[in-house]
Amino acid sequence: MIILLTGTPGVGKTTIAKKFSEKYSFKYIDLNDYSKKYVIAYDEERDTNVIDIDKLRNDISREISGNCIIDGHISHFLHGDFVIVLRLNPEILYERLRSRGYKKRKILENLEAEILDVCLSESIEIHGIDKVYEIDVTNKNPEEVSDIIYKIVNDENYRKKFIPGNIDWLEKYYWLIDKIRKEVGGD
Ligand code: ADP
Ligand code: MG
Repeated sequence: MIILLTGTPGVGKTTIAKKFSEKYSFKYIDLNDYSKKYVIAYDEERDTNVIDIDKLRNDISREISGNCIIDGHISHFLHGDFVIVLRLNPEILYERLRSRGYKKRKILENLEAEILDVCLSESIEIHGIDKVYEIDVTNKNPEEVSDIIYKIVNDENYRKKFIPGNIDWLEKYYWLIDKIRKEVGGD
């Protein structure tokens, strides 16, 4: 069983994946670390590394076995049995990214990604709707979220509550994107 745990940076993937792997004896795979060997360029504009995702996908599929949870905001580009997309209230995400010391531009990019469902829609496009589930982790502790993940992958009935489509930040939080866009300026 391979679980791909994805979501915008800051939503809580690492914290939750580590908790889950301890509690349910899954192997924890840190994709941020693993993907370092696959950096092929640096994208200045986006302040991010460009990864050879095809090579990464092939290599990791060959190297891993058994029950694994793969933690990373590009994990949904890999092969897996389930894709779990963590979602977080944009105002809380904004505070977390600020306290990480991210630049305004990077905060904007990540908030836009969260509000516009980027990880979720990429996941569905790649894996199809049946393998993808989303959890709103706002006000849930890492243990609660771990238990939800465990039940999603093990209980056909339970997982129906987490079928994509119930989380919509756009209407309520568009102002936040607008505000940061103005702060970043027109460059
Ligand atoms: P990601 O791996 O998605 O970038 P992290 O796991 O590093 O996110 O979490 C970002 C920050 O949010 C950390 O400071 C972490 O302690 C905190 N955090 C993560 N999950 C939760 C949660 N469920 N409740 C409260 N704080 C959390
Ligand atoms: Mg992380």
